Amino acid sequence: MINFNSIAELIALAEEKNLPVHAFVIAREMHTSQRSREALVEEMQRNWQVMKESIQRGIQNEEHSISGLTGGDARRIYAQRNTSYAGSAAMEAAAYAVGISEVNAVMGKIVACPTAGSCGIVPAVLFAAASQKKAAEEQIVEALFTAAGIGMVIEQNASIAGAAGGCQAECGSAAGMAAGALVELAGGTPEMVGQGVALAIKNLLGLACDPVAGLVEVPCVKRNGFAAVHAMVAADMALAGVKSVIPVDEVIEAMNRIGRALPRSLRETSEGGLAVTATAKRIEERLYGKKS
Ligand code: SF4
Repeated sequence: MINFNSIAELIALAEEKNLPVHAFVIAREMHTSQRSREALVEEMQRNWQVMKESIQRGIQNEEHSISGLTGGDARRIYAQRNTSYAGSAAMEAAAYAVGISEVNAVMGKIVACPTAGSCGIVPAVLFAAASQKKAAEEQIVEALFTAAGIGMVIEQNASIAGAAGGCQAECGSAAGMAAGALVELAGGTPEMVGQGVALAIKNLLGLACDPVAGLVEVPCVKRNGFAAVHAMVAADMALAGVKSVIPVDEVIEAMNRIGRALPRSLRETSEGGLAVTATAKRIEERLYGKKS
């Protein structure tokens, strides 16, 4: 039976058999779910289809959420991508990620990966990479399994929930998943995959979860855009041979420790950070008619 409880174990399996990371993620899932490879791949293809549809809806979206806090920004970012400082690939990814999150904010269909709050990051970078690198759909689906395997390890050893570990656990985990998937998609070694994950997560450690008015909109929607670009930079660094001084599983351990140390007010309670600013309080009053 194939099993792994850390990224190091996953990398060791891949290196030993000279196979990509996704092969072991699929093998483990086949064992635990007792489903065939074909069935798992088909399900992931359906997920990818939903992801692509949410991207298309997102970048055309002019609809605002019921709160009025979000909507239309993905379209703006996408329109400006070719004259940007960051470059068109980064801004396309940012637009896709913001767009998917805007779709989530209007109750549209998205794939939680790993959560609804961080749903834009993984699909955005893969969609941008697919057109940039001319990757086949099969490769993208395989990269999604790589992302899923990374997410599983994080969930086992830390958390993927903002209520438990702050936004580092949601957008930080998604950025790690996205970076690892991008590294594999570009032909990086399993060890480089691990470096990409470490680099991406390390630089989002400590991120607070402080949603305004308790809605997964501010800062969540735009944060997905930033985290997508962050993941691309981490992947590029790993592919260039940059190594994290702190090994990836120790970074995940640190994420777990930091999450536990975060005060309750910064773990999705909307009792701290941005959620208690004067503007956030005015928004709350407008939406709920209360003063606190
Ligand atoms: S700020 Fe909180 S609710 Fe928003 S994406 Fe991050 S973890 Fe999720």
